[in-house]
Amino acid sequence: MTTTSALTDTPAQPSRQVRRAGARRAAPTRLTPEAQNRRLTQAILDTASAQAAAAAQAAALAKAQLAEAEVQAWLKDMDARLTVIFAHPEENLGQMEEQLARSVKEPLRLLAQRAAQVKANAVACRCPECRGQLTQQRWLSRTIHSRFGPLTLWRRYGFCPHCGEWHFPADYALGLGRKAPASPYVQEISALLVSQMPAEQAVLVAERLGLDLSRCGLHQEAHRQGLKAEQWRSQFVGQLDTWEQIQRVASAAAEGPPTQPFTLVIEIDAWDIRERDNWGKTKELRAAGQKLDRWHWVYMATVFRLDHRGQTAGNRAVITQRGYAATRLGLEALSAQLYREALARGLGQAQLVLVIADGALWIWNLAKDRFPDARQQLDLYHAEEHLWAIAHDLYGKGTPEAQAWVAPLLQQIRDDQTVAVIAALTELKPRLLEAQHKKVQTQIEYFEHNAQRMKYKEVLDARKACEEGKATEEQKQLAKRPVGSGAIDSTCRQYQCRFKRTGQFWTTAGDEALMCLETLWRNGRWQELYPHAKSSATLN
Ligand SMILES: [Zn+2]
Repeated sequence: MTTTSALTDTPAQPSRQVRRAGARRAAPTRLTPEAQNRRLTQAILDTASAQAAAAAQAAALAKAQLAEAEVQAWLKDMDARLTVIFAHPEENLGQMEEQLARSVKEPLRLLAQRAAQVKANAVACRCPECRGQLTQQRWLSRTIHSRFGPLTLWRRYGFCPHCGEWHFPADYALGLGRKAPASPYVQEISALLVSQMPAEQAVLVAERLGLDLSRCGLHQEAHRQGLKAEQWRSQFVGQLDTWEQIQRVASAAAEGPPTQPFTLVIEIDAWDIRERDNWGKTKELRAAGQKLDRWHWVYMATVFRLDHRGQTAGNRAVITQRGYAATRLGLEALSAQLYREALARGLGQAQLVLVIADGALWIWNLAKDRFPDARQQLDLYHAEEHLWAIAHDLYGKGTPEAQAWVAPLLQQIRDDQTVAVIAALTELKPRLLEAQHKKVQTQIEYFEHNAQRMKYKEVLDARKACEEGKATEEQKQLAKRPVGSGAIDSTCRQYQCRFKRTGQFWTTAGDEALMCLETLWRNGRWQELYPHAKSSATLN
C-alpha cells in the first residue's frame, strides 16, 4: 500500500515552485518595474490614439459606400464561389443560394455599419427627454449584432445637466435601447421565433435562415422584447383610464365609411399553465408550511365581427380579422385587455354583442361587468357534453342505452326546450342511488343557471333553411352566427402548443412576457413594436 509520504518523496511532476523557477529562467529578459510601467503606459496610449483615430474616422463619415477595392474583393469572392458551384454538377440550386447569400454578407455588413454610422453622425447631441444640449461630449464605440453580422458604431454622448443623466442620442435614433445587444431586426426575429418555439430550437432555425442568434443570448433577448411588449400593452389598455378617453377610442374605431349593421362576437375561456417560481426552494418553502401551486390559469378571449367570418372552399370557418387577449395576470387584467380589444374591433358600433363561453361563472360575471348589453350564450357543445356525462353515468360509455336516452334530450336543447330537459332530469332523481342523485342534481343546477343562455333554435333553423335553399335574407345572416365557442377553443389549443410542452415550466414573468408578444403578433400590431416590419411589406 502506498502512503502519501511515499508519493511526495517521488513526485511524478515537478512541483509548482520548480515550474515557476523554470519559467523565470526561460523568460528572455526580465524587465525592471519601471520598464514594465513604461511599457504598460505606452500600450494604453497606443490603444487610446488608435481609438481616437477610429472615432475621428467614424465621425467624418458622411456617405455609406463600398471602396472600389472592397467591391472588387466581393466580386472576386463571388466568382470563386460560382466556379466551385459549377465544378459540382451534382449540387442543386440550394447550394447556389447558400453560397451567393454568403458572398454578399460581408459587403452588406460593411454598408450597414457605415450607413448606421452616417445616421448616428447626423443625430444632434441633445437630451432625448428634455431636448437640452448635452455637455462633456465624448465618443464611445459599441458593437451590435445585426442581420449581417456584428456592426461597430461610434456614438457621441454627453451629460444632461437638467436631467442629471448621460445619454447616447444616436442609440435612440437607431432603435437601440440602452442595453440592446442586437439591432431592431434581430430583436424582432428573436421575439418572433421564441414566441413560437423554445429558444434552443429557435437558434437552430435562425441559423438555417442565415442568422447567428446564439450570440445575442436569444432567450434573454426575447424576454426583453416581451417586457417591451407588455409596456406597450399597458399603454394601449391605459388609454381607457377616463370616460373621455373611452369615448375617443370608441369613435376612432368608427372612422371610415359607415358599415352595415354587424354582430360582434366575444368568446372567453381559460386553460392552465405549469409554473415554477422560487427555483430550488421547493423543499424549504414546503417545510415552512407553504402550499406551492404549480398550475395557474391563463385567461383568454377572442373578439371578431361576424361579417369577418367566412368559409374556405373546404367549408372550414375562417375569421379574417380578429382580436385576442391573453394573460396570466388574473381576471382584472383579462377584462381590461379584452375591453380595449373589443373597442378597437367595433364594440361601440355593433348592433349586437354576443358573448359565447362554457358555463364558468367568472365568465358571465366578467360579461355582465364589461358588456352589460351583450347577449350571453352557452356553448352548445358544452351543454351537450353535460348531458352525455349523465348518459354515460347512468348507462355506461358507448352503450346503445346511453345513446337512446340522450338523443331526445339533445334534440330538446337544440329546440330551446331547456325547461323540458330540466324536468326530465328532475323526474329521474327519485329512482337514483345517492351518488348518482348528487351528480344529476349538479347538472340540473348547471342547466338552471344557464337556461336563459341556451337559445340555439333560431340559428340552427336558419342553417337548415340555407342548406335547403329556402332561407330568407335574415336567415342567411342568422346562419352565420356561431352556436359554439370553437374560435376560442382553437385559440387556447394554439397557445398551449407553445406554452404547454412536455417538461416545460415557466415563471410568471417569463410566460406573461412571451404570451404578450404572441398576442401582439396575432392582433396585427407587431409594427407598433417593430416599425420596420411594416415597411418590409411595402418595400421591394
Ligand atoms: Zn435632459
